[in-house]
Amino acid sequence: MRLKFSHFLLLIVFSSYSQNQKHTNIILMIGDGMGLTQISSGMYANNNATALEEFEFVGLSKTYSSDQIVTDSAASGTAMATGYKTLNGVLGIDSQNIPQMSILEHCNAMGYYTALLATSSIVHATPASFYAKVPARSQYQDIALQLSEHNVDLFIGGGKKHFESREDGRNLLKEMKGYEFVTSLKEFEKSMSDKIGYFTYSDEPPTLTNGRSPGLESLVEISLQKISSKNSPFFMMIEGSQIDWGSHDNNLDYMLSEFQEFDRAIKKVLEFAKKDGNTLVIVTADHETGGLSLIGGNVSKGRVKGTFSTKGHSGTMVPVFSYGPHSNLFSGIYENTAIFDKMKQAVTP
Ligand code: MG
Ligand code: ZN
Repeated sequence: MRLKFSHFLLLIVFSSYSQNQKHTNIILMIGDGMGLTQISSGMYANNNATALEEFEFVGLSKTYSSDQIVTDSAASGTAMATGYKTLNGVLGIDSQNIPQMSILEHCNAMGYYTALLATSSIVHATPASFYAKVPARSQYQDIALQLSEHNVDLFIGGGKKHFESREDGRNLLKEMKGYEFVTSLKEFEKSMSDKIGYFTYSDEPPTLTNGRSPGLESLVEISLQKISSKNSPFFMMIEGSQIDWGSHDNNLDYMLSEFQEFDRAIKKVLEFAKKDGNTLVIVTADHETGGLSLIGGNVSKGRVKGTFSTKGHSGTMVPVFSYGPHSNLFSGIYENTAIFDKMKQAVTP
């Protein structure tokens, strides 16, 4: 109750503030495993074009974790989400064992509408970095429980089974009273609810080439229509989760199709941001995956040839693209934790 009351007070402070000034919306897009070579390959394979070319500023992010030069998605997700580096595998807790508030939670406390979209399950490391505090990313049932008790307003991703078939016998979907759970794009489009959960799959969603649907760009488009009709600023995180998985498989075609879907989603986001004028868009990666090299191909034929040097991640810096208000903050070379600091600066009055 105390927490809720303090949120209520913040809302009052926020409402009186918002009469004078507009808060910046943030759309953070994370291509998991999307290093510069994934982008280059995806661009050449797509008529030498990517939506990223329209961004205003480009920076580089140092992705190492508190214990390893090669990070995993939990440590790097936590770094970007909370501003603290941590050990590989840890979500939302820093290297001194202190749980930290994420940018989504800071925004929520300021009256923002919040949303998470992923092409993995919603309890997977990247989206979970924004709401969960657990020592191990594999604690899916604990992560699901934490999401059920959180106040993320809209979430879309796979992983329904972690909410309804659980070792503790609870059905979290029944406990999440404020939410409408939609089961199709049509239902999602029609829903008038303030809080929406959309489980796209019971487990991890399949690859795009194996028929994953709906496409991320449709989910993004409808989410933006809904969110922009609310009378509050918003924070949204969108993950292209499987760019990483294609790269782990050392499967260039898998990676390329996932990147291209993510690129189409970026295009939708940019169209929105251009019209809106008050939305900061950041596109980055948590790390590179596969140690991919682009070693041949043909630009005019849209063919690329690549080789991978590892089945795991690599430690190279990753690019950060930014567009909109405060986008200038994101040029230069900085720690991945600075992405949190810069977003915080962008939303702080
Ligand atoms: Mg991920
Ligand atoms: Zn990975």
